[in-house]
Amino acid sequence: MKMRSYRLELKLNQGQRVLCSKSAGTSRFAYNWKLDKLIGEYEANKALATMYGLNKIPSTFGSAIDWHKDWVLLKQELPWIRETSKCCGQEALRDLQLAFQRFFSKKSGYPKFKKRGQRDSFRISSNVYVLNNYVQIAGIGKIRLKEKNYPILEGKCLLSQATVSRQCDGWYVSFLLPETVEDPVMASIESIEECDILGVDLGIKELAITSEGETFENPKAYKKHLAKLKRYQRMVSRRAKGSKNKQKAITKLSRVHKRVADIRNDTVHKLTTSLVRTKPKVIVIETLKPKNMSKNHKLASAVLDSSFGKIKDTLKYKCAWNGIHLIMAPTFYASSKYCSICGHKHNDLKLSDREWTCSSCGTHLDRDVNAAKNLQYLGLWMVDKHSPSGESSVSSTQSYACGDERLQFLLEQCSSMKQEFKSQNQTLHLECEPQGEHSFA
Ligand SMILES: [Zn+2]
Repeated sequence: MKMRSYRLELKLNQGQRVLCSKSAGTSRFAYNWKLDKLIGEYEANKALATMYGLNKIPSTFGSAIDWHKDWVLLKQELPWIRETSKCCGQEALRDLQLAFQRFFSKKSGYPKFKKRGQRDSFRISSNVYVLNNYVQIAGIGKIRLKEKNYPILEGKCLLSQATVSRQCDGWYVSFLLPETVEDPVMASIESIEECDILGVDLGIKELAITSEGETFENPKAYKKHLAKLKRYQRMVSRRAKGSKNKQKAITKLSRVHKRVADIRNDTVHKLTTSLVRTKPKVIVIETLKPKNMSKNHKLASAVLDSSFGKIKDTLKYKCAWNGIHLIMAPTFYASSKYCSICGHKHNDLKLSDREWTCSSCGTHLDRDVNAAKNLQYLGLWMVDKHSPSGESSVSSTQSYACGDERLQFLLEQCSSMKQEFKSQNQTLHLECEPQGEHSFA
């Protein structure tokens, strides 16, 4: 059994829309109310500590359960809170506690106040049901789903919790449902042949090129919508603050932003699913550092437009689901600079050189396909199928022993990685444990 997450768009009527806005408002209010108090308490304790010369600031922090007692008292003073579900405040306080836990364990920064209109959402943890075409939430009622007849949602099903959130001018519900999934069977390393290994080069011009020569277009959603984004951004900044027209312009702008995000998301899922569907036993991809790459101003927007990080994360869980070994090539493995035939390294290769001829063996190479082949070679080396004398070697008949700088590099730099890969997969064969929860949008 695994939990799979769903996020579906809601089709609200006017009354439900108001209720959702109110619920998100209550949720935000509870969060900000307690955060403000905690900051106040912290400052007071700090002042006390300095007054009495203590070297440690006394903590009166408490937990979400303690905070909730105050919240219940506050409810009596502010009747409008009671118009929404009791979960709104409860869950918001839980979120705040989590935010502080993340802050104390140095996983994220100090909790910030929530702002109206930014990530409006609320969570309901009791009496939520999904049915074929609607979601039933206590206090709001039956809400229709925008898309109908989801086969997975047949029959009435009680959810442990559901989050309702607003993006742009649409409302969405997200929740987890258990699903029976057969454990994927990982192929044993010995059984892997050259044709089972897929090298994938991620790029800017084309989003991805595989060692089989298959290319995936980069829709460059941001670039295509840039003019529109700029126009709407100007519109927003020119309209008077707090006016209705400004609100309209903001909605228009955020619709374009959403469109860009949707296109990117769609592309990533299509690409990764397509890679996994070819049923390789191993996929080798580069470990790109988008943060470093985007330091190059000319490339920055293009790099971000390619959503490399999302591709990597998505591929990770899809590989785990399908029993595919995923190898991340180390960042310093210059996959585009080696000749995929003889392994000679061309250090003077520029980013603009789309095609080039190897000075050592004279082969004419396409930059991206060559890089993908080098990634495939890394995979071959990891499973010990790279040797020229072995039954299955890389398509060339050239000897690797002399002058293969690529092999030299792998032997010197990646031996520990290889060992780790092998030992890791040995345990995988024994337990065959797929990864836990994964989100699926
Ligand atoms: Zn060559």
